[in-house]
Amino acid sequence: MKLSWEPYTLDLRHTWRIAHGASDQRHNVLAQIGAGEEAGIGEAAGVPHHGESQQGIIAYLEGVIDRDWDPFQMEDQLASLPPGSAAARAAIDLALHDALGKRLGQPLYRLLGLSPERAPQTSYTISIDEPAVMAEWAKAADMPILKIKLGATDDEAILSAIRQVHHGPLRVDANAGWSREHAAAIIPRLAQFDLEFVEQPLPVGDIEGLRWLRAKKPGVPIFADENILTAHDVAAHAGSVDGVVIKLAKAGGLRGALRAIHTAHALDMQIMLGSMVETSLAVTAAAHLSPLCDYADLDGPLMIRNDPFDGLRYDKARLVLPERPGLGVVRKPVLSR
Ligand code: MG
Repeated sequence: MKLSWEPYTLDLRHTWRIAHGASDQRHNVLAQIGAGEEAGIGEAAGVPHHGESQQGIIAYLEGVIDRDWDPFQMEDQLASLPPGSAAARAAIDLALHDALGKRLGQPLYRLLGLSPERAPQTSYTISIDEPAVMAEWAKAADMPILKIKLGATDDEAILSAIRQVHHGPLRVDANAGWSREHAAAIIPRLAQFDLEFVEQPLPVGDIEGLRWLRAKKPGVPIFADENILTAHDVAAHAGSVDGVVIKLAKAGGLRGALRAIHTAHALDMQIMLGSMVETSLAVTAAAHLSPLCDYADLDGPLMIRNDPFDGLRYDKARLVLPERPGLGVVRKPVLSR
């Protein structure tokens, strides 16, 4: 089976503003393996702060264009991929799993022996803006679990405004936006807003800082996200954090994510399964693994105005997996650009 691809541009419903920067569009790539009914599809997300770009992803795929793919050989075939774009490797991995499921006529969660009823509800993300605007957005969303992007100048004012309109579970994400000292000072103050956990409070790579922060018992569980790419990183964080955020695009796909999930379980760490700004294609793939995780942050498609794919559905925050074989994702009749 041969590999082909197609770039596309996603328009976001709201400007996506986090501690790293802001964007209104994302440039992702569809990877396809094979042709016709049993073709497998996968998605590579061009996430600038993970060093991924549409151009870089395509260059990686061009580099492996001559290979002949077989979903029944995927362990060896994926292991033989050269290093480089984790997003591109994830897209190939997704396409192979999709082709496998289609060949066998079963949805991926069934091939993995997982119960879709065990999928956690997803949080809905509010990115950085003025506190009043964020609260309005939160109210309009009317979702049971919210995730609030922090790392702004007025993080306390943001949570205070959000708590006026939302009384359910609340988690926050600093996206590496705080120093050690600032995190140690502000997290105990944010604890009054009854937070499930705080994601990536410290700059990327500061594992010792996370250990130091957690030892201070700041009153909110600490999760690492940008620090965690693969199972190797999960193991390196044992004892430094309460939990980890695992994403297919970081781990190199479903197999890499499964290794990271099992590593976290072995080390008694909690797991949130997250996504990038990705369509129903990559997010449905993640949703198939979500029954193995404690928390889900799989709201990517809800942030996108022109999702070219149909896959999982949302019953409010409940993830409803498709029954079609493989990933269960189909292209909408017209690919909007
Ligand atoms: Mg995060």
